[in-house]
Amino acid sequence: MPWLPEIEILKKKLKKEFTGKKILSVEFYKESEYYLQVRLLEYELTNKHILNITRKGKYLKISLEGGNNLIVDLKVTGILRYFSEKLSINSYTPMILEIDNGYLCLQNLSLRYISSIPTMQLKNNQIFRNLGIDPLSNKYNIEIFYKATNKRIGMLKTNLLDPSYITGLGNYYVDEILFLAKFHPKKEISKLNRLEIEALYSSINKILNESINVGGSSREEFCYLDGSRGRFQNNFNIYDKEGKPCPICRKNIKRIFIGGRGTYICENCQK
Ligand SMILES: [Zn+2]
Repeated sequence: MPWLPEIEILKKKLKKEFTGKKILSVEFYKESEYYLQVRLLEYELTNKHILNITRKGKYLKISLEGGNNLIVDLKVTGILRYFSEKLSINSYTPMILEIDNGYLCLQNLSLRYISSIPTMQLKNNQIFRNLGIDPLSNKYNIEIFYKATNKRIGMLKTNLLDPSYITGLGNYYVDEILFLAKFHPKKEISKLNRLEIEALYSSINKILNESINVGGSSREEFCYLDGSRGRFQNNFNIYDKEGKPCPICRKNIKRIFIGGRGTYICENCQK
């Protein structure tokens, strides 16, 4: 499951591998329901140079010569792989870009999450209009986080999973962040004082950076272009550790449900 750290790492790898390269052809698994979209993408991608590869929240943005941008949302299952030889197109690999240095293959994702948006329309596109703060952005700082957090109501965990508040934090990242900050996931966000908001801010930064430093996390199938995997899942303190001792106080870790999401907590440490 790729979240913000994994998409950030993937973006850097894509940028290094494909910036300045040319898309020679594009092949889709012929899903008739996407016929128009597929024809349009074919027209907009073929014979175009890749100018840059960036990220907006969890969306990858591949900027192309001619003013279009290929937008890829890997959701929770998608993978991008790079091969020097061509794979066969099928329902598991529904899009293959032939680039002058190899083949970029989209796997395990419906074509519905691929789109092309002209640069002029990016700012007002509905995909990006409601994106929350990006904790890996250069512009992100405590004042931005404080201002956004001050407007929120409801449980901490529900808020941290809401991409219109903060983008790209998945279930296990949120559990690890709240454990580090020593906050109960059901704590009311509107009751946090300045010091508590600062503690939350620094826990978010610490967990995301720890993950990036070990190559992100690769739970289930997720991997990078060359098939390599991240290791942050081996560093979890609390997530998926029901019944095991809390690494701080040794009391048993519990699993509760919040908004239908399995949530791991130490009731002794997290208040
Ligand atoms: Zn504990």
